[in-house]
Amino acid sequence: MTLKNIELVFATQNKNKAYEIQGLLPANTIVKTLQDIGCDDDIPEDQPDLAGNAMQKARYVYEKYNVNCFADDTGLEIEALNNEPGVFSARYAGPEKDSEINMDLVLEKLGGNTNRKAQFRTAIALILDGKEYLFEGKVIGEIRHERSGEKGFGYDPIFEPENYGKTFAEMTKEEKNERSHRGRAIEALGEFLKNL
Ligand code: IMP
Repeated sequence: MTLKNIELVFATQNKNKAYEIQGLLPANTIVKTLQDIGCDDDIPEDQPDLAGNAMQKARYVYEKYNVNCFADDTGLEIEALNNEPGVFSARYAGPEKDSEINMDLVLEKLGGNTNRKAQFRTAIALILDGKEYLFEGKVIGEIRHERSGEKGFGYDPIFEPENYGKTFAEMTKEEKNERSHRGRAIEALGEFLKNL
C-alpha cells in the first residue's frame, strides 16, 4: 500500500529546523518552509504558555495562507526559578537572544541552590484541514553548576538529562534527538501522521 503524501508547512523562519524535522517525520510527510510559501513575516508569539505560542503561530499561517501546517515552541523550566525561563527562554536576559548571557543569568540566579531540577518542554501545534491538534515532548534533568561541552545550542552546555551523565552539549545530534524534548514531540507528531 502506498501512503498518500501529506504536505505540511512548518511555521518557523529557521530553515535548518525545517530540514532537520523533515528527516525525523514519516517518509510520506513533505515539510515545506515559510519561504516556500513566500512568507517572511515575523509571526507573533506572545502567549503565556508554550502550547499557546505554538498554536498562535500555526493559526497565523493557516488563516493567512490556508495551508496545513504546524509550529513548535520550546522552553526550559527550572523548578527553583518558578519554572523560568519558560516561554522567555530565547530572550531571558534580553532582546538580543544571546545564549551565553542567558546561561550566565540562569547560573547566577540559581547560585549555590541545591535544587537543580529542570525540564525542557516542546509543544507542537498541528492544523490539518482546519482541525487543531497538540503534541508535547519533555525531558527531565538538571542544571549543572558550570558549562560543559561545545555542541548543540541554547542552554545545552548547562543541561544534563536524567541518568545520562553528560550535558546535551556533549552529545552527538543523534544521541540528543533520541532523548530530547523536541525529538519526543516530533515522534508524537510522526505517530499521529502515520496513523491518519
Ligand atoms: P524555540 O521555541 O525552539 O525557538 O526555543 C526557544 C529557546 O529555547 C531557544 O532560543 C533556546 O534558548 C532554548 N532551547 C530550545 N530548544 C533547546 C535545546 O534543545 N537546547 C537548548 N536550548 C534550547
